[in-house]
Amino acid sequence: MIDIATAGIHADDKIAVKPDISAPIHVSTTFAYDNDPSKLVPAAEATFNKHDMVYSRLSSTNVNRAEEVLGQIAGGNAVLYSSGLSAFHAMMIHLNPKNVFIGEGYHGCHAILDILKRNYGVKVHPLDADPAILQKGDVLHLETPVNPYGVHFDIEKYAKIAHSRGAILTVDATFAPPPLFDPFAYGADIIMYSATKYFGGHSDLLSGALLLRDDKATQSLLVDRESIGTIPGSLEAWLLLRSLRTFKLRILAQTDSATKIVKYLADNKSKLSKITKIHHASLQSEDFVKKQLPHGGPPVFSIEVTDSQTARELPSKLKYFHHATSLGGVESLIEWRAMSDETVSPQLLRVSVGLEDTDDLIEDLRAALA
Ligand SMILES: *Cc1c(COP(=O)(O)O)cnc(C)c1O
Repeated sequence: MIDIATAGIHADDKIAVKPDISAPIHVSTTFAYDNDPSKLVPAAEATFNKHDMVYSRLSSTNVNRAEEVLGQIAGGNAVLYSSGLSAFHAMMIHLNPKNVFIGEGYHGCHAILDILKRNYGVKVHPLDADPAILQKGDVLHLETPVNPYGVHFDIEKYAKIAHSRGAILTVDATFAPPPLFDPFAYGADIIMYSATKYFGGHSDLLSGALLLRDDKATQSLLVDRESIGTIPGSLEAWLLLRSLRTFKLRILAQTDSATKIVKYLADNKSKLSKITKIHHASLQSEDFVKKQLPHGGPPVFSIEVTDSQTARELPSKLKYFHHATSLGGVESLIEWRAMSDETVSPQLLRVSVGLEDTDDLIEDLRAALA
């Protein structure tokens, strides 16, 4: 396999439009059929092939190119969606489980399961429920590192539980895309990413991805996506493709910076009296964390402060962290998490580290906390 830095720039060369070096922005929703009548295959006789361009709800140039690149980066077949949540929804209706085990994590995934529960009677259980409930074809969904804490769970442990019951392990690895973490290496059957975050990386596009190693399941997802209409728009896919060119540089720099900031906060906790807790994978001591996340933690961490008023005020004291939800962009963000998630402590602030200079960010946090 080629390195992800090279994949990010060359994986789509074979389907590139010549002689362009940078990908042109294609916006056409419809594509001409072959002009040779003998080559026309009527729908009744055709099998869906995303490389036969017909209509942009089925596939489009920019989506195909971004899938090629993302697939090589993440080591599987990539299927892109209009958002991370539409990717999660597609995965659930494809697998069609009777029971889903799921832990803490992104509130939107829980909201989708609430819809499946309401409409189809899907049963939702805690991540550590009795494995005996799991039947063949059920789903154990692990989000790791988990939102909003950036703390890592042992994927191998959950892979064993799921597979011992014939269930499927799906992993939301949005917080730690490659090369930080390779869920396939530790037993994931399907990986999901919100590509809005690190793959997009510039806070200007919404997209999601599923990664699979099974060609038949990939084809089935592509066919479902055509019916449901959750392919990303061509402009979004172009933005994503452009972002993937610099993905490896960004993710490694953001991770390195976040790990240094967490270390500074942890080392100086006695002086920073407003902080009561710091959550980040780099502070976990279990062996599986070092093994599964060899680069340190994800570029997101959380802190808890003495009281909710301090949590409400801290973002307004910072120069380089915008007070906003989301993560993964070049701009550092901080969020008083109570603004978007009702389930977490009102003393919690989630920090997404961008690409500013690490020392500038540390000084900004130090001054604001003082
Ligand atoms: C943002 C996010 C999602 C949802 O992705 P969207 O692109 O916003 O739909 C899912 N899981 C995690 C961990 C996320 O951070």
